[in-house]
Amino acid sequence: MPNRESAIAGAPQPLLVWSGEDEMFRSSVAAFARKEIAPRARAMDEAARLDPALLRQLFELGLMGIEIPEEHGGQGGTFTQALLAIEEIAKADPAVAVVVDVQNTLVNYALQRWGTDEQKRRWLARLAADTLGAFALSEAGAGSDAFALAARAFPADGGFRITGRKLWITNAAEAGLFLVFANLNPEAGHRGITCFLVERGAPGLQIGRKEDKLGIRASSTCELILDDVPVPAQGVLGQPGQGYKVAIETLNVGRIGIAAQMTGLAAAALQHALEYSKQRKQFGRPIAEFQAVRMDLARLATDLETARLLVYNAARRREAGLDFVKEAAMAKYWASEIAESAASRAIEIFGGAGFTRDYPVEKLFRDSKIGRIYEGTTNMQLLTIARQLLG
Ligand SMILES: Cc1cc2nc3c(=O)[nH]c(=O)nc-3n(C[C@H](O)[C@H](O)[C@H](O)COP(=O)(O)OP(=O)(O)OC[C@H]3O[C@@H](n4cnc5c(N)ncnc54)[C@H](O)[C@@H]3O)c2cc1C
Repeated sequence: MPNRESAIAGAPQPLLVWSGEDEMFRSSVAAFARKEIAPRARAMDEAARLDPALLRQLFELGLMGIEIPEEHGGQGGTFTQALLAIEEIAKADPAVAVVVDVQNTLVNYALQRWGTDEQKRRWLARLAADTLGAFALSEAGAGSDAFALAARAFPADGGFRITGRKLWITNAAEAGLFLVFANLNPEAGHRGITCFLVERGAPGLQIGRKEDKLGIRASSTCELILDDVPVPAQGVLGQPGQGYKVAIETLNVGRIGIAAQMTGLAAAALQHALEYSKQRKQFGRPIAEFQAVRMDLARLATDLETARLLVYNAARRREAGLDFVKEAAMAKYWASEIAESAASRAIEIFGGAGFTRDYPVEKLFRDSKIGRIYEGTTNMQLLTIARQLLG
């Protein structure tokens, strides 16, 4: 019987064919994930803590600054490569994948897209080298209705002061930089929302309660409390009042990353189910010889491939400069759907063993649930798809 150390990342080769460079990148991330992440996944899940040594390795390997240009200390890689990294890491541990995802597809992306030259000089090299970033939009009263946020910013002393509370902020326990959304002019509604760069240690900034979660437990999710936090005038990302655009456009990109995370999770579920079904014997034969089990594996593999095609099609459209909003929402909706069902079916293929913590599929099932919730719930993705269809 495979144990959790042997049955790890390294799902069947994708049907998609990458360029030689992308393939080399993918397989080197996969090797790292197998060797360094998978063996730590169980302990990090139980401790609900990211191993700081692993975080350092992620930085050293350049995985926290994949698209950051080389002149700023990054890898100068592509969006597709960022997704390949997220997918491969998710096969070993979806919790680590979201840490990498938030850094690359939300924080680094937003800085590169809207940062001034000075902001890029100040932050990109640090984000590539050793500083984790966090994206702080949600609040207790503003989840799906994100722009109902109550955090306020006030002009003061040639800059701004921010007061408010943010909830559910990924990476907050370890982050050195927070992209904080607050309203500078509530009378203008969402057109008052502004994105501020807030450094850890800023006076009045407190990292609040860390959530005790069902899944992706190694990734920190905390409340942020901002009490009259000063931000200099050059700490606005984009223009004052354009924060809603920063948030929407960033999340359009970010949700392809979540789709890649969920695709990796589904691939891991399939891989574990394949290995177990070849080794587990009942009625004198491996259960993989039973037609019903074979059909389940075939369905799982087909679902996985549909998600993967949606993810890399959305990425291809983005890289080609085509509209990708609908495709990103479809990828996120579908990948999180099939990830949950793949993990659930993998547990059933493992039988009773799958229901225990001795095997990795129960963790995948717990980790899968978040796919349908963060960066826009499944309902919100479906509404986006419908809006795009209806014009
Ligand atoms: C682990 C974790 C990490 C997170 N990380 C971050 C982060 O880094 N940064 C950040 O800013 N946020 C983060 N979030 C917040 C996350 O994006 C929100 O939880 C999510 O957007 C949903 O908001 P909500 O929890 O308030 O649910 P609600 O908005 O209250 O939704 C509850 C239910 O109502 C449904 N619903 C709501 N409105 C509609 C509608 N108009 N039509 C149909 N159905 C609707 C939803 O689909 C859902 O099923 C994180 C959350 C979690 C759990």
